[in-house]
Amino acid sequence: MAFDVVIIGGGIAGLSCGALLSKKGYRVLLLEAKQILGGRANSQSLQPSYIVDWGIHSLRAGDAGVAATVFQRLGLELDILPSGEGQLFHDGKWYSLPTSVSALMATPLLSDADRSVIGTLFTSIMSADPEDLLTTSVASWLAEFEVSETIRWIFQLYAGLILIEPDLTVASMGEMLDIMNTILRSGKAAGYPKGGWRVLLQALREQIEVMGEVRLGKTVNKIHLQDRAAEAIQIGNDRISCDTIIAAVPPDVLSSFLPRADSDCKKIIKLAKQLIPTAGVSLDLGFAEPITDAPGLIVSANPFIMGQATSNIDSSVSPAGEQLLTFYYPLPAKEIQKDPSAAIAMKQLEALVYQMFPKAPKPKWTRRLVLPVVDGAAPRINQNRNQRLPIQTPIKGLYLAGDAHNAPGAGSDIAFNAALACADKIASILE
Ligand SMILES: Cc1cc2nc3c(=O)[nH]c(=O)nc-3n(C[C@H](O)[C@H](O)[C@H](O)COP(=O)(O)OP(=O)(O)OC[C@H]3O[C@@H](n4cnc5c(N)ncnc54)[C@H](O)[C@@H]3O)c2cc1C
Repeated sequence: MAFDVVIIGGGIAGLSCGALLSKKGYRVLLLEAKQILGGRANSQSLQPSYIVDWGIHSLRAGDAGVAATVFQRLGLELDILPSGEGQLFHDGKWYSLPTSVSALMATPLLSDADRSVIGTLFTSIMSADPEDLLTTSVASWLAEFEVSETIRWIFQLYAGLILIEPDLTVASMGEMLDIMNTILRSGKAAGYPKGGWRVLLQALREQIEVMGEVRLGKTVNKIHLQDRAAEAIQIGNDRISCDTIIAAVPPDVLSSFLPRADSDCKKIIKLAKQLIPTAGVSLDLGFAEPITDAPGLIVSANPFIMGQATSNIDSSVSPAGEQLLTFYYPLPAKEIQKDPSAAIAMKQLEALVYQMFPKAPKPKWTRRLVLPVVDGAAPRINQNRNQRLPIQTPIKGLYLAGDAHNAPGAGSDIAFNAALACADKIASILE
């Protein structure tokens, strides 16, 4: 079978783009290096009867977010369960996590003086244009309002939760504001695909397979160009000809197959190498009985960590009566490379979980992950949506998609948005 489009990479970006193109009537061949789909958002059965995602995976703005937009475009059902009220652990006490203006106004964490400043801040947030603030850091935006230390750390919490970039001196206010606006206007902070992310991945795969094919265990090692146009891809000794190719891989992989002899590919590889990802350590815990009834995010302010009892949002991910909890502790990407930073962070994370839940028994099972790349590019002032990797390259027929690209959002939202933009662009050219 000849294919209209070849996609390298079966993560969120590659699968979404493939499904969108298949829906438009194109024959797609998707090649994935691993034996499972999903990339950094993979999700599988682990331990008898648990469905475990690759670390905490939540959909920003729930069914008002971009994953829902992709599924609407595909005409497919995606059951996104709303996350319940978040819990905040601060100075040894529990508070509700203020994810709406009204909750923020009501929180005992703020003084009356803080509350009046918050009113001004949120009026400004609701009326600002994100594009104008992409290169403004959250810290310098806040500096204009003379905020208290408490308001500052609450914004640090938001930057951590929304952008996975708690460093306010580099976090992009424009990127954060865009997502905050969606959350505030929809009233939906986060959601979770019923049955785990594997349900979402499987639905995208099936849409591709209506017209095309998904092949696992296929590592692409070269893209061939002819007269500055995409011509074929190479997998070992196999060559597959196609004049429309999408590389949907993380930035650090691009150098393994883009031809460096081409000056535009060289520039793309250079930019890809400069992008700084988010990173951290992750802990999954399976408990024989529930240790918390928290229905949404579980967050600590200092150090900043985020988690959720996923089985409280979707009971199908753990055996009846048991509980799945996942926690994530973000660390600067350069820290995680240094031994023993990741090991120390993991110990701190485990200790903090037992500080939060002192009566928790020993878990039935534990999975510890050290993650040098969580999101392909942290949404910082110097790597905002306009400064990341291009979706359409100057080479005819060669496209890029993923979570480090010229598309709005953070984490998988960038990957979904890049897929939408990439599919539209290709369809407009192939039509
Ligand atoms: C622990 C963790 C928690 C996260 N939590 C959230 C969250 O709560 N919300 C959120 O929105 N985002 C979250 N993210 C980020 C989200 O998972 C990513 O943004 C998203 O999965 C990126 O998708 P992608 O398609 O761009 O890249 P990837 O998922 O990296 O997919 C790329 C695929 O390409 C394949 N590949 C690589 N090289 C080749 C090759 N040469 N040939 C063929 N195939 C190749 C890889 O195997 C991979 O499957 C989290 C990430 C992690 C790691």
